[in-house]
Amino acid sequence: MTRSTNPTAGCNSYSPSKRYPLIDTHCHLNDLAFSTTLPEVIGRAKAAGVCAFIVPAYDMGSLERTAILAERYPDFVFPAYGLHPWFINEPLDFPILHSYISLNNTVAVGEIGLDFSPECPPADIQAPVLIRQLDMAAALGFPVLIHCRKAYDQLYEILKPYKGKLRGVLHSYSGGKEGMARFIDLDFYISFSGSVTRRNARKYHKTAGAVPPDRIILETDAPFIATESTVASKVEPCHVLDVAQKIAEIRGLTLSEVCRVSTGNALRLFDRIPAL
Ligand SMILES: [Zn+2]
Repeated sequence: MTRSTNPTAGCNSYSPSKRYPLIDTHCHLNDLAFSTTLPEVIGRAKAAGVCAFIVPAYDMGSLERTAILAERYPDFVFPAYGLHPWFINEPLDFPILHSYISLNNTVAVGEIGLDFSPECPPADIQAPVLIRQLDMAAALGFPVLIHCRKAYDQLYEILKPYKGKLRGVLHSYSGGKEGMARFIDLDFYISFSGSVTRRNARKYHKTAGAVPPDRIILETDAPFIATESTVASKVEPCHVLDVAQKIAEIRGLTLSEVCRVSTGNALRLFDRIPAL
């Protein structure tokens, strides 16, 4: 799963000028792991043909860091604001969250969701926090970035009443091919991360082969999800190119075609990002 720890593996072997640009629709450039390396990380991503980054906040402490980052790189860092289910045991301030979401350059509400892994906060605490943020997104007209683990049925029940009022993406989707159609019916997109690049990840490969082309979105979730060739902590937005390449291989498409389609989908969903 981790053949190389070279942080730039997969970044330099392509010619971005010959194909459509990519968007990393979910990367945590706001994470402290990038605090001293950001210019180089962005440089490597641009060299790999990544032209825009959606950076989601995840807890109260990351809201301001995200806003500062987006102000520093207004042309290509696009912020999202939300409270991730892992971090809702901390004191939450929804009016402050609302004020960040209402900033001019916000493109989405997230990262929000449900995670019923045993180490996470109890389900009965997670659901109301998610619903409160879905309500904000629907009221303000933003798409949502959803994290979901071991809770797809419960997530579907929560999202169902928002049909026609809310759009979004299931980030690094792990729910399997069979569970996907019901979310697409709710106007959600399916996002693929480094998980799909792993040689033995058959469940992800099947999902990537079956998803309708107009629903494919790409991301890295850097620095949290390993690719076939890079450990999670070394993953950067440049590795979204590896994700695109794997999707091309699975679907029998050219890399250019996957870039064009996935970037078009991302711009349709995140319609506050200016045209590239
Ligand atoms: Zn994330």
